[in-house]
Amino acid sequence: MHPLNHFKFCPKCGSSRFAENSENSKKCDSCGFEFFKNPTIGCGAIVFDDQDRLLCIRRLKDPGAGLLGVPGGFVDLGETMEQAVARETIEETGIQIEVHELIANIPNSYIYKGVEQHPLDFYYSGKIIDMSGMRPQIGETAEILFIPRNEINIDSFAMASCKELLRKILGK
Ligand SMILES: [Zn+2]
Repeated sequence: MHPLNHFKFCPKCGSSRFAENSENSKKCDSCGFEFFKNPTIGCGAIVFDDQDRLLCIRRLKDPGAGLLGVPGGFVDLGETMEQAVARETIEETGIQIEVHELIANIPNSYIYKGVEQHPLDFYYSGKIIDMSGMRPQIGETAEILFIPRNEINIDSFAMASCKELLRKILGK
């Protein structure tokens, strides 16, 4: 299935003469605009506290409502990876972290509201700086958890990229 099969109209001029032009693009026969389906850039924070427990969130919304994740999300326009990791962690948990190093980048895919999404997820290590504002993000985070390294159950995580990373980190 073409990655833009759900998109019937030119996003520039609205024409319905919007047809597959390559594996990753559609082109408008009315205005000439070509629209590419590129990966979006996702990020996640892999943060163990001083008791070797992983900072996790329980997802309130789909994809993966009720399952676990690490703090993370999409990179905004004009933002660096490190800024995005720190911002998403603050937004979802209220916890301020210092972002350290890139651990891995892993292509992900999932269905969001009936449309397949293809983020490329960048996972960074980090360290907790300030927990005084800790609270789950209203409407996004059901719960904040600190899970001891040896009690992490990879099957309880939502995202394929996160599972793959945890398998590597935990040697499972
Ligand atoms: Zn057009």
